[in-house]
Amino acid sequence: MVSDCKQIIFLGDGMGGRPLASLEGRTCLEAQDTPALDAIAAGGECGLMDPISPGVPAGSDTAHMAILGYDPFQYYTGRGPFEARGVGLAVKAGDVAFRCNFATVEDNVVKERRAGRIKEGTDVLAAAITEAFADGIDGIQIIFEQSVEHRAALLLRGEGLDHRVTDVDPHQDGVEVHLCQPLPEVADDPAAQRTARIVNEFVQRSHEVLADSEVNKDRQARNLLPANAVLPRGAGTAPHLQSFRQRYGMNGAMIVEVDLVRGLGMYLGMDVISVKGATGGMNTDEIAIAEAISAVWREYDFVLCNIKAPDLGGHDSDVEAKMQAIAKVDRAIDYLLHKLDWEQTVIMVGADHCTPISVGDHSGDAIPIAFYGHGVRPDFVDKFGERSCATGSIHRIRGGDVMTIIRSYADRMEKFGA
Ligand SMILES: [Zn+2]
Repeated sequence: MVSDCKQIIFLGDGMGGRPLASLEGRTCLEAQDTPALDAIAAGGECGLMDPISPGVPAGSDTAHMAILGYDPFQYYTGRGPFEARGVGLAVKAGDVAFRCNFATVEDNVVKERRAGRIKEGTDVLAAAITEAFADGIDGIQIIFEQSVEHRAALLLRGEGLDHRVTDVDPHQDGVEVHLCQPLPEVADDPAAQRTARIVNEFVQRSHEVLADSEVNKDRQARNLLPANAVLPRGAGTAPHLQSFRQRYGMNGAMIVEVDLVRGLGMYLGMDVISVKGATGGMNTDEIAIAEAISAVWREYDFVLCNIKAPDLGGHDSDVEAKMQAIAKVDRAIDYLLHKLDWEQTVIMVGADHCTPISVGDHSGDAIPIAFYGHGVRPDFVDKFGERSCATGSIHRIRGGDVMTIIRSYADRMEKFGA
């Protein structure tokens, strides 16, 4: 059965959370006034979703993969290749790709692993790195590109590499920069050993290059943390993924704020649409994002949208920031509720994972979700939140169920059996 019903998945990155004493036992989502999300819940079907499986804290990459119906256990080797593709690097078969942070390092100890969320000058820093490694390392080509704020990507290209190496980024402040090493299962593998050696040399030499940069001298003069180190993590190789069109027979677009997810969209052959004003930061223009969805809505069968801001508030354990970010998601949804034809559209609203204030990172908690629009049978939930959605008729699903359910609402599923 083929219909022309449009499908939208709209995710507030890390939007779910846990109750907080400071909010009188409510979560950020429950405490924030969200009239549009509540209208979606009231007119739709609600439930909980485990992006991967119950209790597994998902990354944005693995969660988005799972929600789009690509099993991350089958296809995922690391975030590096998605990040690298998302910032515009053409990852080739055999390349080993890393996600990187610009960080502040003192005496080999990570002082601040996001260099104070550096906003400006990373293009200059990246250019200095590119120049310093123009001749590569040990016959391996070094390709480096900065992204939003402290984020960057690194590609190693050449013969005899292996992505099975550990992170240099220790994932917390106040501890030593880790040495890159082969994973235990390939400890004696020459390619993994060589890859680790090259990464360590890259980290050491880039530290020297960055420490000398005018950008950092200027930052220190202004009492800002210098971005004097690059910390690679998430090594992986380019995945082989069936295109979205092949898998679903639909044309799909992404309007997302996370390079990692943008990279996934490119591997899937989806149209990745950028939006002026979608900064991926707390100041993002949510209306510009909603306008972009409504502008392309007729052209595509399927659109995936992601607003990053709630995740940032969660990582910073900043209640006010997370609630403001949730208000942004609500305003975008409000815009869509008024602009789209809901006779011809079905949407799932939710998150890719929870980033609770009390955890300051992604957690394995289930995510509140709601389906709304064409084909949906409303239940009795009338507020969008962790506990209200838990009482809805969707009950509890996994990320891998989403594409089947949303296509079913859209009358896009083939009958199974006679
Ligand atoms: Zn996150």
